Amino acid sequence: MSKRDYYDVLGVQKSASKDEIKKAYRKLSKKYHPDINKEPGADEKFKEISEAYEVLSDDSKKAQYDQFGHAGPQQGGFGGGGFSGFGGGFDDIFSTFFGGGGGGRRRDPNAPRQGDDLQYTMVLSFEEAVFGVEKDITIPKEEECGTCHGSGAKPGTSPETCSHCGGAGQVNVEQNTPFGRVATRRTCHHCSGTGKIIKEKCSTCGGDGRVTKNKTINVKVPAGIDEGQQIRLSGQGEAGVNGGPAGDLYIVFRVREHELFERDGDDIYCEMPITFVQATLGDEIEVPTVHGKVKLKVPAGTQSGTRFRLRGKGVANVRGFGTGDQHVHVKVITPVNLNEKQKQLLREFAEVSGEQPSEEDGFFDKVKRALKRD
Ligand SMILES: [Zn+2]
Ligand SMILES: [Zn+2]
Repeated sequence: MSKRDYYDVLGVQKSASKDEIKKAYRKLSKKYHPDINKEPGADEKFKEISEAYEVLSDDSKKAQYDQFGHAGPQQGGFGGGGFSGFGGGFDDIFSTFFGGGGGGRRRDPNAPRQGDDLQYTMVLSFEEAVFGVEKDITIPKEEECGTCHGSGAKPGTSPETCSHCGGAGQVNVEQNTPFGRVATRRTCHHCSGTGKIIKEKCSTCGGDGRVTKNKTINVKVPAGIDEGQQIRLSGQGEAGVNGGPAGDLYIVFRVREHELFERDGDDIYCEMPITFVQATLGDEIEVPTVHGKVKLKVPAGTQSGTRFRLRGKGVANVRGFGTGDQHVHVKVITPVNLNEKQKQLLREFAEVSGEQPSEEDGFFDKVKRALKRD
């Protein structure tokens, strides 16, 4: 988990301006974008660059990162809370530092602020993940209140500047923390960090300036997506505040297990039972794949556990890097509940074959030798 310093990733000085950071990001992201750069590792690099920029381009995340390094920004951005890598304890510490929730991290409550990112978990069937699917999802999203246009004040009135914090929304406090005595800024309790006092509240939103509405969003799931992967729908998160841009919506995928197939990356694995007669004499069997039935030649003398590969019968790579294979693991089934005639035939078979089955790699010979030693 050794992460590179975000400034190093973008190749900028710690003192770099917002513009310099943006320029560096644009240059690098063009160079390593997976649609352009097909070199191995470019994808990882692009992710690293995006992550660094996401933090360094956001004033509050950057401030946290400057102060606490990689432990900082993960705590912040995601409205759903699911991305935080910490246990409960850390959340508590960080919420003390930052005054709790989104409010404390704002410097100027009246400045435009990007809306929170949202996270949605989408469950897919095995086949939907393999072939992609288009789905409508409905998520509750905060939007600007139409009655007061975000001010939170009853139409005809306007909010007043909070006299306790002078409209800053925050007050300075000193605190003892596990890291020593730290001067922090805390959300003003009188105005809850908004810097404004609303005497007559808008009746539609109750003074929040925002209302929660269910929004339906069409999601195109790319073919080849896998368990735990995510896509970002930019601008589909919470609405921005004070005219800021909307946040992003992250869709995280979970893929249900299949009764026959197992997936590992772009390859699919399955087990195929064959009878011992098929294994001994050879046969052509039908194997199910996600692309339909495929004929597979099982050669005479196939051992249980032998693997066959069906090329190109796996999953199309989500980034367009070819298609995986299906690996078929044959399992020879020992017959049970034989009738008298079957048993008799097998006894005759054993008699003509000698006491042990013949086998090429001499495994039975080794076992026989080991038994004789005792
Ligand atoms: Zn309102
Ligand atoms: Zn205040």
